[in-house]
Amino acid sequence: MDTIAASAGAIARSVRAGDVSAEQIVDFYLNRIGRLDGELHALLAVDEAGARARARMLDGLPTEQRALLPLAGVPLVVKDNIATDGLPTSAGSRILSKFHSPFEATAVERAVAAGAVVVAKSNLDEFGMGSSTEYSAFGPTRNPWARDRVPGGSSGGSAAAIAANMAPLALGSDTGGSIRQPAAFCGIVGLKPTYGRVSRFGLIAYASSLDQIGPLARTVKDAGLLLQVISGLDRRDATSSAEPVADYVAELERSLDGLRIGLPTQYFGAGIDPEVRSVVISVLDRLKARGVQVVEIELPHTEYAIAAYYLIAPAEASSNLSRFDGVRYGFRATAGDVVSMYQNTRAEGFGSEVVRRVLLGTHALSVGYYDQYYVKAQKVRALIGRDFMEAFAKVDMVVTPTAPEVPFELGSRQDDPLKMYLSDICTVTANLAGLPALSVPAGFVGGLPVGVQFIGPAYSEALLLRAGSMVEELVERPPWPLDAL
Ligand code: GLN
Repeated sequence: MDTIAASAGAIARSVRAGDVSAEQIVDFYLNRIGRLDGELHALLAVDEAGARARARMLDGLPTEQRALLPLAGVPLVVKDNIATDGLPTSAGSRILSKFHSPFEATAVERAVAAGAVVVAKSNLDEFGMGSSTEYSAFGPTRNPWARDRVPGGSSGGSAAAIAANMAPLALGSDTGGSIRQPAAFCGIVGLKPTYGRVSRFGLIAYASSLDQIGPLARTVKDAGLLLQVISGLDRRDATSSAEPVADYVAELERSLDGLRIGLPTQYFGAGIDPEVRSVVISVLDRLKARGVQVVEIELPHTEYAIAAYYLIAPAEASSNLSRFDGVRYGFRATAGDVVSMYQNTRAEGFGSEVVRRVLLGTHALSVGYYDQYYVKAQKVRALIGRDFMEAFAKVDMVVTPTAPEVPFELGSRQDDPLKMYLSDICTVTANLAGLPALSVPAGFVGGLPVGVQFIGPAYSEALLLRAGSMVEELVERPPWPLDAL
């Protein structure tokens, strides 16, 4: 039964055709989760009973009805800051450790309506704040390629689950790189859609002007398949876009003749590991051999991106996280009076990185500092957006490494926030400018995965996926680390 360990697209086809039952598929993946996740800790909650019941329901549907489901019987892992009604939603935080959402996120609802089966919730840095999944209140996730290394973050659980084949598809969220950097670290595909492409309804807000939900998968085609299902206008998210949704899978067949890719010198210099850089350059050389034009361009304000991001994101976080007061959600500390109840709940409920962000953000927004920090960061944000607009007058998309390095060792940076923040140097600009960005595997350095990132104009997801699928054809890869188990 080869279909079982196959792509999401192949699984859905077999389930639709009745060659295999959704229940068999779900059993296969639950079994892998049971055997592998004890060591990897990619998942925070597994819904065995719910997933089996849902699979049986799909198997009981009339054939004509099942034939309409693009994700028929495909197991899906959902990052634990995305609301699900069957499973708890903790956002990786002690403050929400027992929280059950009364509603489901639109992206999950749409995937489920398309036939997906939610099997588990995945680990993350608390509220999405981090680049290694080590800031989860429930312990870190290990990288399937090297278990003493981080899987990246904050969607590290989703990325590790895909690399370990505990599910063919996962949802993540990306505020400054949280889908793309873990995708790169785990040797898989991850896409941050254009701001507004996918509804944020049901995503626990970190920095609302930057947050987007997106797909993680082993192949570009599978990522496109999930993106197609979750995209589109949702009246429950006022920032969601009415822009028509393309057929991302069909578009993969279109030619890339005459494609022009910009290479921004700012992303290939200091701060980028030379071995990572040469892997990316060698991908570009192979693209050139296929007729793609690669031209050097400038994105001059890149050097201010990390500083701007680490003001804007914490500023929005400090406001978004004020709702966690022990009254309405999750954990409540015991105390004699209401003010100490608020204080103790937040002191005991939030981890140290979250506290750091709330302090930073509150400071940046306070009277006297607002203009100096927050407003200035917003101006830089506008300039970064303008850099991209100018670049897209000359090229169709921009290429960069996804991360400046290979996956680092667990524990090696946990106490060095600045170093941790620098992991995001290549990814935050797409969020600041609201642009779509895709990470695809580019190769390996010492057995550790490296990703290449394509950033395009708003709503150019189909084009990015086409470029990604060309890279997929050009890159040789070793067998997946745990598939034989
Ligand atoms: N690592 C970045 C941060 O800590 C990005 C996280 C994300 O995209 N959620 O903010």
